[in-house]
Amino acid sequence: MKLAWRFLTQPDSCWVQLLTAKYLKLESYWTEKKYHNVSPIWRSLCAVRSSMKEAVCWAVGTGHEIKIWSDPWVPYLPDFRVEGLPGAQRKIYRVADLICQHSRMWKVDLVHECFTPHEARAILSIRLPMDAVADRLLWLKTPTGQFSSKSAYTMLTQNAPSSSSSPKINPAFHWKALWQLQGISPRVQIFLWRVITNSIPLKSRLAQFVSSIDNCCPLCHVSPETTDHLFLKCEVVQLVWFGSPIGLYVDMNNNDFTLEYIFKGWLSQPSSFEAAKMGCAIIWSIWKSRNRVVFDSWKFDPKEVITNALHVYNEHLVAACISPTLPQTNTQVGLVEASAHWSRPPEGYIKINVDGATGKNSIVVGLVARNEFGVVLACRSIFDGNWSGKDAPLEAS
Ligand SMILES: [Zn+2]
Repeated sequence: MKLAWRFLTQPDSCWVQLLTAKYLKLESYWTEKKYHNVSPIWRSLCAVRSSMKEAVCWAVGTGHEIKIWSDPWVPYLPDFRVEGLPGAQRKIYRVADLICQHSRMWKVDLVHECFTPHEARAILSIRLPMDAVADRLLWLKTPTGQFSSKSAYTMLTQNAPSSSSSPKINPAFHWKALWQLQGISPRVQIFLWRVITNSIPLKSRLAQFVSSIDNCCPLCHVSPETTDHLFLKCEVVQLVWFGSPIGLYVDMNNNDFTLEYIFKGWLSQPSSFEAAKMGCAIIWSIWKSRNRVVFDSWKFDPKEVITNALHVYNEHLVAACISPTLPQTNTQVGLVEASAHWSRPPEGYIKINVDGATGKNSIVVGLVARNEFGVVLACRSIFDGNWSGKDAPLEAS
């Protein structure tokens, strides 16, 4: 919306003139029109048009800048726009045509001639400034008439449909324990706070505001990208959790098994603080890789995500204090009644865990190989979006 505001208020800017010449020509930004093969900037400008319509209106000065039939300029009418009487559009074009610039009065007869009685009354109710000042576009969501991102965000969130995917923030969440965690990067701590409070620009959230945004998860392309899906329940992300030193098995049949639930459990007792820190590093690493998938066409690699999470975790690790506890955290999680507990293989052996899961017409198979220290040696996922079989674990085997 900020970009749209600039587009409307900075007509002399080079980029505005370029877009205007390419897409609008003599049309108005406000005219609904289907465009094909347009630039991402123009697509985003069009996507917010309906939201802009309720927040923008001209303050009439000379009227030279305002197009009568497309621009918003009559505060007392729906969408601040006029429809006029048949044939009127051929007579007048700019609001300046309706104003006697010498006397600074409305041309009352012409107004009655061109508009319905209701519209005419609304127009004549607009008080014209005594001096011929320039027209000014107003942002109606702030007292000053100037755009602010905060007011735009407030407007959008008030208009947005309620989201069933928004986590219900439990005030009993152990925020204090999170902030008091030692040996963890503050940026990772803050990131968990952003995730739990639903402050991450996930696609499902953005799609509430901009209808043109596809809300599909960029990793599996099956489910909407919500907090719990992206960071926990996505088929490929499950592999990350299972292959990590935490060895977390994501129970898809338990609706209470959410990210907030898991971290609340970890943060409730000092014995599982290391699992909480590793968990923070994992969601941070998932987010970084997800962004590379979205913006750099990167391929999501669970093994790479785990490796990066371990780097983040080790950044602030005091080896002597922590190394003995982490491999056992899957048994210390406490709250998670995991249906599978991983145990290390005997010395000199490699343990390979395999699991499969199905979506509507898809199957994903994961494989994790770890040595006797619990270190991940290999990790592989296979995703098939055209699957029609029945038993995923069997096929995985
Ligand atoms: Zn997904």
